[in-house]
Amino acid sequence: MSLPEKPVSPLAAPVTAVWGVGEERAKLLARLEIFTVEDLLLHKPRRYEDRRKFLAIRELKLNEPATVRGKIVAAGIKRFKKGTRAMFECVFDDGTARLHCRWWQAQPWMEDWFTVGREFLVFGKPDSLKPRNLDHPETELVEPGEDEFIHVNRIVPVHPLTEGLTARVMRTLVWRALEKYETELQVAGCRLQVENPVTAARKELSTFNFQPATLPARANAVRMIHFPEELTDVEIARQRLALDEFVALQFQIQSRRKKFEALSKALPCGGDNRLMKPFLAALGFKLTAAQTNVLREIRADLSGAHPMRRLLQGDVGSGKTAVAACSALMALESGFNVALMAPTEILAEQHYRNFVKWFEPLEVKVRLQTGSRKEASLQVESCKLKVEKTAVSARKEPSTFNLQPSTLTIGTHALLTGGFDLPKLGLVIIDEQHKFGVAQRETLVRKGNYPHLLVMTATPIPRSLGLTLYGDLDVSVIDEMPGGRGQIKTFVRMTDKLPKVFEFIREKISGGRQAYIVYPRVEVADTDKDIKAVTKEFENVQRALTPFKVGLLHGRIKPVEKEAVMAEFRANKIQALVATSLIEVGVDVANASVMLIENAEHFGLAQLHQLRGRIGRGAHESFCILISDAQHEAAQARLKILEATNDGFKIAEADLKLRGPGELLGQQQSGAMNLRFGNLAEDLPLIRQARELVAKSF
Ligand code: ADP
Ligand code: MG
Repeated sequence: MSLPEKPVSPLAAPVTAVWGVGEERAKLLARLEIFTVEDLLLHKPRRYEDRRKFLAIRELKLNEPATVRGKIVAAGIKRFKKGTRAMFECVFDDGTARLHCRWWQAQPWMEDWFTVGREFLVFGKPDSLKPRNLDHPETELVEPGEDEFIHVNRIVPVHPLTEGLTARVMRTLVWRALEKYETELQVAGCRLQVENPVTAARKELSTFNFQPATLPARANAVRMIHFPEELTDVEIARQRLALDEFVALQFQIQSRRKKFEALSKALPCGGDNRLMKPFLAALGFKLTAAQTNVLREIRADLSGAHPMRRLLQGDVGSGKTAVAACSALMALESGFNVALMAPTEILAEQHYRNFVKWFEPLEVKVRLQTGSRKEASLQVESCKLKVEKTAVSARKEPSTFNLQPSTLTIGTHALLTGGFDLPKLGLVIIDEQHKFGVAQRETLVRKGNYPHLLVMTATPIPRSLGLTLYGDLDVSVIDEMPGGRGQIKTFVRMTDKLPKVFEFIREKISGGRQAYIVYPRVEVADTDKDIKAVTKEFENVQRALTPFKVGLLHGRIKPVEKEAVMAEFRANKIQALVATSLIEVGVDVANASVMLIENAEHFGLAQLHQLRGRIGRGAHESFCILISDAQHEAAQARLKILEATNDGFKIAEADLKLRGPGELLGQQQSGAMNLRFGNLAEDLPLIRQARELVAKSF
């Protein structure tokens, strides 16, 4: 028995199906990521040229681009001196005047093509009027009865190109594809998206050929984006095609969630407060109202019908760790294990230290599992016996409360790779989610039997991105900072102020505080000697701050040494830490009150905001000094935003507009979205529309 063949859209055919694309051209197109006919049709023009201005040759003006129509009255190769390059020249006449056109490098085919008597449309910018002359014009043969032109007499697209492919060739290929696949385009607009999950899925269920009221049909939009009648059509077409992309993304997101809800029954992890109460009593501070609210939402999820999938957003220092701890306790009280994943070893270890301190008195076992350390439970050895008992009783009465607490495993992405197996995994917490990809998140969650998931991020995510990236998650926000914090003042300065700045840092250190000093690089690169690197600056800083002790921290230092340096900094045995942006996430030393960042223009705004979040954690007034000699106004203006506001959401919005989603999220995540037409910084209304369209279709 053979399986019925799946209908494949002709648009999925290799691009060689377009006349004029052989193996050579296919290779060139591949460089532009054009493999199929569909890729070619969706190759978005870089800009447009208005070639509609139609003039009589006599009306041509100097340096003003225009199109004329004329018959060839003379043509031939010209050679100025013997042995020099040959030039091709031909003369057009339209009855009003004559126009000379020259190609400085004659091609063999020209003499056969531009023959006397043939009529052409000619577009270009005259560089002289006496005689009228135009070099390297764009031309198109007028064939009898023909009235449609590709390259002239219209608004023409100029596509992104690669060496060996001219704008004219590219335009011709797109045109041919549009002609050849016209029926496919007309019959069902959205069939164009053969690889699109919406279409694929919908084709099976029924039809999902939605037609938004205010936008053109997809087929028309494809034509319009290449050959618009008016320049204003371009944006309309872009919106239509962007909407399709967002629909596809939303479909993925929402069906993932639906499927997940249908498959999975929630583990009862609501807890009974018996660990929570002593924990909160010993914590040393009272939770803020925002933290309490969020915990209420989380508790509802943990005892709900579907596994929790929640994103917790809270600016740096808003106290997400305490919320994570309380959530973990709920699951632990219910007799389930918990995993907490952090993006760096330093952060994992810091969490480990905190959680051991918090949970040991509650007799909860805390394990650390990172790349460099397979397992570290030495400090909680004393709890081991009880834990083993836990496992036994858990097996006996799997779903009743009042079980012995289980284990919290803390780790880096090492948790994702081999070996790690936690039975009875009830809750997975991912800290600083933006450092992980969606796929990674899914891998970890699949390790358990659909455990609850809490992802936390300090990068405030603009709404448009949130809906696109985290559309399958419910969102909680901690919108309040714990009280008793000193203010952070931020200054942008030029390098010439550095001596004064170091003087200031010495003063602060003398007063008992500590400082971070951040550089963009680990080592100085040959190509960019102006960008400072920690390994080189370390000695300078030591000299500038003697007799105080200075530590060094960057990604190439061995984990054990990293840990040692962090421990000394925490204990104030080191007063200043020279580091890369490695310390951007999570590091929490309340006594540090100065952050100096050199070459600040080399960091994203959101990243600078994160770095700044390392200070201002204690009661002392804190200072963030951004050093930048960047000359252009845009760079300075960008940094000034940080001087002006401490609001992470405002900063994230600004960063998204200025640098695009890649900078904010990491290339991995934003690249995965693969948007040709959609713009995450601008298209919030379209994203909302797509979300509703898809929600209605379920
Ligand atoms: P982030 O949200 O950036 O992860 P942390 O969880 O590291 O922030 O918290 C920052 C600091 O604030 C920690 O030292 C933590 O103990 C403290 N903290 C958290 N919640 C409160 C609170 N409600 N009151 C006072 N301090 C708090
Ligand atoms: Mg944190």
